[in-house]
Amino acid sequence: MNRSDTLAPPIPSALTERIQSLALSSPPAPPVCAAEHARLTAAIKAELTRQNAVLVVHYYVDQALQALADETGGRVSDSLDMAAFGAAHPAQTLVVCGVRFMGETAKMLSPEKRVLMPTLQAECSLDLSCPADEFSAFCDAHPERTVVVYANTSAAVKARADWVVTSSNALPIVRHLMAEGKKILWAPDRHLGRYIQEQTGADMLLWQGDCVVHNEFAAEDLLALKRQHPDAAVLVHPESPRAVVALADVVGSTSQLIAAAQRLPNRELIVATDNGIFYKMQQAAPDKVLIEAPTAEASRCISCAHCPWMAMNGLANLLHALQQPEGHEIFIPEPTRVAAVRSVERMLAFSRAQGLVTSKTAR
Ligand code: SF4
Repeated sequence: MNRSDTLAPPIPSALTERIQSLALSSPPAPPVCAAEHARLTAAIKAELTRQNAVLVVHYYVDQALQALADETGGRVSDSLDMAAFGAAHPAQTLVVCGVRFMGETAKMLSPEKRVLMPTLQAECSLDLSCPADEFSAFCDAHPERTVVVYANTSAAVKARADWVVTSSNALPIVRHLMAEGKKILWAPDRHLGRYIQEQTGADMLLWQGDCVVHNEFAAEDLLALKRQHPDAAVLVHPESPRAVVALADVVGSTSQLIAAAQRLPNRELIVATDNGIFYKMQQAAPDKVLIEAPTAEASRCISCAHCPWMAMNGLANLLHALQQPEGHEIFIPEPTRVAAVRSVERMLAFSRAQGLVTSKTAR
């Protein structure tokens, strides 16, 4: 197969520019002083109890929200486990701190629950790179392929998919499909898709999106950093470019990288993923020295190793979501939800059978 046969057309430059502009203009949650932190956390705890609500927080979100989830019986995790936890938890309200597709996935699996987010403006460059109409037309042009989409997509794109995957389960799911003789149409992350393709040998046609965080890790600078820390292990998320993945000792999802940080004997670890992960990684491996992998120069980088949309989640907008939920609640048209949830539930059933998640859905 020619390389051109494995790639979808490039993302149009106008869309790339819009994504970069959104990333650069998304305002991070403002920092709060100690007194305000105490006031906000007390008020959030009271609202969580009063409203029978639970926090479901991604590893990349501010550590104050991660700590609050831990203190209040919520969950801090990756997108696969967030989906499973939210569906299994008996709370009436799920407060999802992350980016919008995570709230949508929670709502798909728990339509009877209210799903709130600190901000609905928290986008994801992968989701934005894959507009539903264009993607659907691309699928129509390749009807012989099984459509596999990453969790970082809109409900409408998931509704067009046969399978949803996350970075925790993409490899076993693609291997499973390969064993069934399936050819795959993959979207939207080109680096993760290429990594899975190389690991499995699967026949994959790749959409050309990328993550504004992982795409910026720089192989040459990482090599120089490795020379300065010759005994350090390098942990890399597979949304990173191929040249960065090639320097890794461990490639894996956020949960897999945290497990590796605990397991590896190396005292120093160079970590190529969003630096929000350092909070949980350091808790899991308190004796390790964690070093941020280098990105493009500060003057040129868009994310500088921290997702601009994850950074929009803060204590103040979290409390606002609980006190004045209008404008914070996730709604999905029911036909889209019903179409999309099939591929998500297929992923969860597969992951449970493989022991990749332990939470059971309530239904
Ligand atoms: S870190 Fe990348 S993949 Fe994750 S939400 Fe941000 S832009 Fe999307």
